[in-house]
Amino acid sequence: MSKLSVCVYCGARKGARASYTEAAEVLGQGLAARNWRLVYGAGDVGLMGTVARAAQEAGGDTFGVIPAHLVAMEVGKADLSTYVVTETMHERKKVMLMNADAVVLLPGGAGSLDEFFEALTWRQLGLHDKPIFAIDTDGYWTPLMRLLTHVVDEGFADASLFDLMQVVPDPGAALDAIADHGGT
Ligand code: AMP
Repeated sequence: MSKLSVCVYCGARKGARASYTEAAEVLGQGLAARNWRLVYGAGDVGLMGTVARAAQEAGGDTFGVIPAHLVAMEVGKADLSTYVVTETMHERKKVMLMNADAVVLLPGGAGSLDEFFEALTWRQLGLHDKPIFAIDTDGYWTPLMRLLTHVVDEGFADASLFDLMQVVPDPGAALDAIADHGGT
C-alpha cells in the first residue's frame, strides 16, 4: 500500500498567536513520525512554511503544489520531496486533494476557508469520501462551527453536514482520528 497522504490547509501568515505556529510544528512532526506524507500548497510562508519545515526536519515526505503566479509571493519551496507547479489555482486544489487520503485544516484565512469548503462541499456531493478534520487551536474554528450550525438550523443544509467533518482540539487528535479512519 502506498504511503498515507494528508492534505493540510493552513494560513500563508502565522496569525496572532504562537499556539498556531506550535500546532503547525506538532502536525508536521506528527506526520513524519507516522511516516505519512504531507500534501500542501508548497509555500514557505506563514503556517504553510512551518508545517512543511517541521515535517522535512523530522525526515518526512512532503508533496507541495503551487500555481506559477504564486511561486514568488508564497516563496515556492522547491526542496520538497515532490514539488509541483501548476498553471492555475483550480489545478492546485485538484492536485492537492486527489493526492491525499485525508484533509486537515489548521488556522488560516480566506484561502484556507476556500480550500476547506471545497473539500467539504465536494464530499457533500459525493465527489470524494476523504475524512476532514479541523484543528481548533485556541478555539480558532469555533465561529466557523457556529456559522455551520446556523446554516443547518436555518434549513440550508441537513444536519448530516456535520458527519462530513470533525472538529478536533489539537494535531495529535487529528492524527489519531485519521489512524482510526483507516490510516496506520
Ligand atoms: P490563507 O488561508 O488566506 O492564508 O491562504 C492559504 C493558502 O490558500 C495560500 O496558499 C493561498 O494561495 C491559498 N488560496 C488563497 N485563495 C485561494 C483560492 N481561492 N483557492 C484556493 N486556494 C487559495
